[in-house]
Amino acid sequence: MTTGTVVGSGPNGLAAAITLARAGVKTTVLEAGDTVGGGLRSFEGIVPGLIHDHCAAIHPMAVGSPFLATIDLARRGLRWRSAELECVHPLDDGTAGVLRRTVDDTAAELGRDGAAWRALFGRPVENFDRIGPSMLGPLLRVPRHPVALAGFGAPTPLPAAALARAFRTPQARGLWGGVAAHAFRPLHEPMSSAIGKGILTAGHAAGWQVAEGGSGAIASALLAEFEDLGGRVETGVRVTAANVPRTDLTLFDLDPQQVSRVLGGRLPPRVRRAFDRFRRGPGAFKVDFAVQDGVPWTNPDARRAGTVHLGGDFGEVAATERAIAAGRMPERPFVLVGQQYLADPSRSVGDVHPLWSYAHVPNGFSGDATDAIVAQIERFAPGFRERIVGTAVRSTTEMARYNPNFVGGDINTGSKDPLQLVFGPRITVQPYDLGVPGMYICSAATPPGPGAHGMCGLHAATRALDRLGR
Ligand SMILES: Cc1cc2nc3c(=O)[nH]c(=O)nc-3n(C[C@H](O)[C@H](O)[C@H](O)COP(=O)(O)OP(=O)(O)OC[C@H]3O[C@@H](n4cnc5c(N)ncnc54)[C@H](O)[C@@H]3O)c2cc1C
Repeated sequence: MTTGTVVGSGPNGLAAAITLARAGVKTTVLEAGDTVGGGLRSFEGIVPGLIHDHCAAIHPMAVGSPFLATIDLARRGLRWRSAELECVHPLDDGTAGVLRRTVDDTAAELGRDGAAWRALFGRPVENFDRIGPSMLGPLLRVPRHPVALAGFGAPTPLPAAALARAFRTPQARGLWGGVAAHAFRPLHEPMSSAIGKGILTAGHAAGWQVAEGGSGAIASALLAEFEDLGGRVETGVRVTAANVPRTDLTLFDLDPQQVSRVLGGRLPPRVRRAFDRFRRGPGAFKVDFAVQDGVPWTNPDARRAGTVHLGGDFGEVAATERAIAAGRMPERPFVLVGQQYLADPSRSVGDVHPLWSYAHVPNGFSGDATDAIVAQIERFAPGFRERIVGTAVRSTTEMARYNPNFVGGDINTGSKDPLQLVFGPRITVQPYDLGVPGMYICSAATPPGPGAHGMCGLHAATRALDRLGR
């Protein structure tokens, strides 16, 4: 019987493991942490009973994932929940850009920018069932629906700043800028619109949903599927150069530099050189809050939104993203706030609610961004500070200690500059190959990149099985 090991149990590791197990490969997952899930873990704390997400929180990429669609998630106990509004981007004058579930409702909300929003997202969202698998696949593969995909792909080489010029109102420009900033890239650089466009397309098609009971519920569902297929998991096992698995297939859900350290001279020199030169993106500095009575946002829509982006107008968001990419900490960083409890009240305890937030900071930022995050929330919600009951802080160093893939707090597993976005960790048409027989990389460093969609794992395992002739 063919044997397989997957090192690391993030969404991509679990997707790879399920794919191997479905093909009849006797598969074991080795996970360094105490629990499975990687970026899909939740914790109870700050106030007993309050549920927080460690990393991924909002799931357009998971709900829209062709891989997750192959699993009966409801049978595995997973329920998706939505807030009334998907995402709100408040501005200093009290107004906001508002993202609603559908393209039409968002366009109606955006007034004179509605037509531009519809022009950008209407067709790709209508065609999402056909273009989703190509959007969430290696970008160099010949697409199955090239015409439909062209409708999505045509503007993606453009800088986010160029697409922002399609909008005239500060509300629409801010809304676009906040989502584009998920790329952690200077917004005037080529292809900086690609990740934002992908999130918005998947989001309009699938919703910015949260997992009831916390994102850990997604990992539990994937684990149950894997174990039902006969898969085995060992937690508390960190794979190093000293204990590289000896199975027919080994897939690494790790960042390329760690793969290079683990495999060392077994990697062909060209692969090792490329992995050692792998470029990091900026970092995330995370603060979870327990908040009495929620956040007193000035803008009423922000009180109903699952996600709130804080960074002022498009120009300010662009300036902060440029600064962090250059290694400078801005005074007012871009901050993402998650109010998952609005979709899933089971996460709250009475009137005390869990609030998820992180700021974009330079990679390896060694300072404390807590006050900057609080000040940014306070800017759009005066009185917030008085409502804080407790906090849990994770600096960039602690982020990397929590998950070695997030080096320097780089939660996207590598800079998503044009070369790494298109090719992955090295320039090749086979981004999952390591050049060592039976060994592959399957983490978010490979196409299609970050997000809890599991598609890197699916594609890597499919490649491994193809080469085995399965
Ligand atoms: C703060 C934050 C917010 C985010 N928000 C979102 C969001 O809202 N929506 C979304 O879709 N995505 C979000 N993401 C991104 C998402 O979590 C990641 O893109 C995704 O988890 C990557 O999955 P992965 O399987 O590649 O690796 P990971 O999830 O990084 O998992 C890798 C696993 O490998 C283990 N490991 C590492 N080294 C070893 C070793 N040597 N031996 C054994 N095991 C090892 C780690 O412990 C970890 O469990 C967020 C991430 C963070 C940190």
